[in-house]
Amino acid sequence: MHTPLFQNALLDEPMSKHTTFGVGGPAAEFVVPETPDELADAIASCREAGVPYFVLGKGSDLLVSDEGFDGVIVSLDALVGVRREGDAFVCDAGASLTYVAKRALYAGLTGFEFACGIPGSIGGACFMNAGAYDGCMADVLESVDVLTPDGERRTLASDELDMGYRKSRVRTEGLVVLCATIRLTPGDRAAIRAKMDDFTGRRKEKQPLEYGSAGSTFKRPEGYFAGKLIMDAGLMGYQVGGAAVSTKHAGFVVNLGGATAADVRAVITHVQDEVERQFGVRLEPEVRFLGW
Ligand SMILES: Cc1cc2nc3c(=O)[nH]c(=O)nc-3n(C[C@H](O)[C@H](O)[C@H](O)COP(=O)(O)OP(=O)(O)OC[C@H]3O[C@@H](n4cnc5c(N)ncnc54)[C@H](O)[C@@H]3O)c2cc1C
Repeated sequence: MHTPLFQNALLDEPMSKHTTFGVGGPAAEFVVPETPDELADAIASCREAGVPYFVLGKGSDLLVSDEGFDGVIVSLDALVGVRREGDAFVCDAGASLTYVAKRALYAGLTGFEFACGIPGSIGGACFMNAGAYDGCMADVLESVDVLTPDGERRTLASDELDMGYRKSRVRTEGLVVLCATIRLTPGDRAAIRAKMDDFTGRRKEKQPLEYGSAGSTFKRPEGYFAGKLIMDAGLMGYQVGGAAVSTKHAGFVVNLGGATAADVRAVITHVQDEVERQFGVRLEPEVRFLGW
């Protein structure tokens, strides 16, 4: 382990407590900046010291190895402010999507219902242009304030972010989102509520929400559905240790309880290999890997 850089860091913090898979070994240092300035300073300190760092949102798309991460996790858990400005919300990067969706409902603003059941943060959602049902971040994002890898702060309009299926410049250029402005449209509260309830109901019915997971484990391959390929390959319920392909939704690898990160990874690799062997399609994980 490196010599600790931060006096106020949690040391050897188990990442299983900070990921929705509920697996992952310790982070050498875990810091939780409370302002964008502190966040920028934390990253600058890591860069100067040559210590690896990783910006963590809600950990809902992340598989951390059992060995953990010998670096600094910069958590956005304390950067969660959301301010309404007319038909827009200015959201700190760590704000949860479900909270912003709720605020939009209360304010009678439509356009963010798609995000009500995605357990991620605003920053993580910008990173991969999170989306569901009839919407995605690119549809509602007006602008983002980011930190560039050189530590410069910039405001980028959404159309400068090159957002596509599970991608954006945030991801390709290693930008750190500090805050994002979401622009919505006045709507009818009852209709917004009905749409959110519909989406939530569909998730409960189709997704194994009772188990730890990172949602859809694989990206949708061009011309196919990952879940269908996995099902057709006969892999539903395929299990290694405590991890398995969900029997409710083949696109989800789940932690049935007591899984290690190695179990989860083994299931993912087997699914990739077997689907490729049977159908010639190599599934690409949507989930991010850290510490492998
Ligand atoms: C049950 C379940 C259902 C899901 N359903 C959906 C769905 O319908 N649609 C969908 O798109 N996703 C879905 N997901 C996946 C996940 O919730 C989203 O991808 C979400 O956007 C990830 O956000 P996060 O804050 O958890 O990111 P993390 O997992 O914390 O991080 C993911 C990546 O984003 C980066 N990142 C995080 N914050 C920032 C920031 N501020 N600046 C720059 N980079 C950052 C991290 O460094 C990392 O590389 C689901 C997950 C679960 C568990």
